[in-house]
Amino acid sequence: MGEVCYIGLGANLNDPIKQLCTALAALAQLPQSRLTAVSSLYHSKPLGPQDQPDFYNAVAELQTELAPLALLDALQAQEQQQGRVRKRHWGERCIDLDILLFGQQQHRCSRLNLPHHELTQRSFTLLPLAEIQPQLVLPSGELLSQLTPAFDGELQRLQHAEYQACCQRLLAR
Ligand code: ATP
Ligand code: CA
Ligand code: CA
Repeated sequence: MGEVCYIGLGANLNDPIKQLCTALAALAQLPQSRLTAVSSLYHSKPLGPQDQPDFYNAVAELQTELAPLALLDALQAQEQQQGRVRKRHWGERCIDLDILLFGQQQHRCSRLNLPHHELTQRSFTLLPLAEIQPQLVLPSGELLSQLTPAFDGELQRLQHAEYQACCQRLLAR
């Protein structure tokens, strides 16, 4: 059904782990879509300004028949729904939902870059992605497994009972 997409989730405000669970539940409810896998929960240092809390991150796999821009609209609506306020570049946020990959599509427009422009530069996108799909080949032809070793040890994988229960519940549906 449709394309296999990967969504990167990040949060560092307002009970961030709960925010990730709320966003995952919303992904599971998207029309013409099915949530098919979710990574473990990870903990990362902020990219931009350092005077903000550390981030919690995850990656979700979604099968969707939505078009890429319709999916982006839905993700941005969900960010709004959760009360995201844009204050500063790479600043704090209660939820960030990025389309990392949309099948093998390559797309560049003012609203949407596919693959996500920083996918291969960030431990918190590459390592959770590799956890759920280690054999993945990127549209560039690069093997995910050849990119991840450079980031080994950069990301903390967490055991969090509430997060794990939320993922199990959503994937069992
Ligand atoms: P970064 O994109 O570097 O991770 P960010 O997530 O903090 O930074 P945002 O402020 O959330 O950036 O988004 C800025 C814009 O990026 C959005 O309005 C959206 O149109 C655009 N964008 C381009 N490509 C993507 C993508 N693959 N997924 C989500 N948004 C994207
Ligand atoms: Ca982002
Ligand atoms: Ca974003």
